[in-house]
Amino acid sequence: MSGTVKDHIDYAYELDLAIKPESSVPIINREYGVFSGPGVPLFSIGGGYFRHALQQILVNFHSRRGYLVVETPLIASSELFKLSGHMDFYKSNMFILNIEDREFVLKPMNCPYHLLIFLNHIARFRSKVKLPFKIFEIGRVHRFEPSGSLYGLLRVRGFTQDDAHIITFESDTLNVILNVFDEIKLLLESVFNLPISQDNIRIRLSLSDKNLIGKDFMGTIEEWSSAEDTLEKITSIIAEKYGIKASIGVGEAAFYGPKIDIIMTLKSSSGVKEWQMGTIQFDFNLPRRFKIYDIIREVYGDNRVYIIHRALIGSIERFLGGYLEHYRGRLPLTLAPIQVAIIAIKTGDWEVDEVILDKTINIREKLLSNGLRVGLKESTKTSLPGDIRSIESTIKPPIIIYIGAREVRESILTISIFSHKEMKRISKTIKYSSLDEALTELENIIRGEEEGVIKISGFAPRIPADLSHML
Ligand code: ZN
Repeated sequence: MSGTVKDHIDYAYELDLAIKPESSVPIINREYGVFSGPGVPLFSIGGGYFRHALQQILVNFHSRRGYLVVETPLIASSELFKLSGHMDFYKSNMFILNIEDREFVLKPMNCPYHLLIFLNHIARFRSKVKLPFKIFEIGRVHRFEPSGSLYGLLRVRGFTQDDAHIITFESDTLNVILNVFDEIKLLLESVFNLPISQDNIRIRLSLSDKNLIGKDFMGTIEEWSSAEDTLEKITSIIAEKYGIKASIGVGEAAFYGPKIDIIMTLKSSSGVKEWQMGTIQFDFNLPRRFKIYDIIREVYGDNRVYIIHRALIGSIERFLGGYLEHYRGRLPLTLAPIQVAIIAIKTGDWEVDEVILDKTINIREKLLSNGLRVGLKESTKTSLPGDIRSIESTIKPPIIIYIGAREVRESILTISIFSHKEMKRISKTIKYSSLDEALTELENIIRGEEEGVIKISGFAPRIPADLSHML
């Protein structure tokens, strides 16, 4: 921690999302030193639940919007990446392996595999395959970064993309890209409480440097000019439709085509900061190299197609880092390691305490059977303030339920819910005549918190766990 300002690494550690290499495994560190610097963040238990919940949301969201969901291998023959052009234009960013005299790579991108799947699909199902063909993967990729530049979850060598490739006729391109923009907005607003406006989001169009085409940028001047013209038009349409600013960066394109990046302004440990989120990238090289133009002509006649690479949040790791700083470690209910903490405030009077514990255990069991991640903590009136401070500075459960003598006497549950809008907790009291009634009311409150996620993905992921040891 630098001074009193926490950064995303502190929050990730407090929430048990990821392990801090230099301080968290003292027994091993004493003997072997610190395993820091490989740039592959080690997610912990809380991080495991976070990732699985987010992945379930992303898979359902994309599937409901017509994407076909795949999962491709981490290792590939280097031949595949020779075909895609990566071995010529991207080799210095790649991890290369030699096994049994054959060369393999850790995939730095998912595209070549997605195109293989598309080609196989169209060979099997021919014109029954409709364009735009949208293929989605939560794809783990590895790219070399110099060790000196690695930093927390923000600059890493192994990361996870919400990655999709869209093969579309040129005539559908505008619609396809507008849809991707809608998806970015839906995801950020509904899952992450990040409302989008011209104050916090802008787009950047990255073009080639005409002098470096053929060297740093793969393809011909004609191909680049035609794709850049199309993308320029689309950029101004998007800027107007969403009322957001657009800028142009010459020479900043990907090696395979021009792109639009979505840049968001978030609060951070060092003031306000811009984060690159999603990206929409044009590619006229991969279709040529993978003979997609040929097969499209054969199956659909003389139509021009584009391949669009796109990610909505980009890297899950970097996005998480940015999010943690913006909301000071407050994850939304669906993604938090402990979703509901139940605090039993014991009195010292064993008869009363028995009732208190009985109720807290009942609530824990019910929440677990409803699929929630819970933690139960026994406290007392005197230790309560310290216990709350400790919970709020570490695991930060979005919902806390208090049960003490008063709650038992008056048949109420005192509930405290974290509001991202107000950045503070809001208290609520549930009055009940039977505990079942209280539990139904509690389930309604939880559903309310899950509403945004349910809206876009049709359900809220529920992965139950008793994580009481974290409180
Ligand atoms: Zn791609």
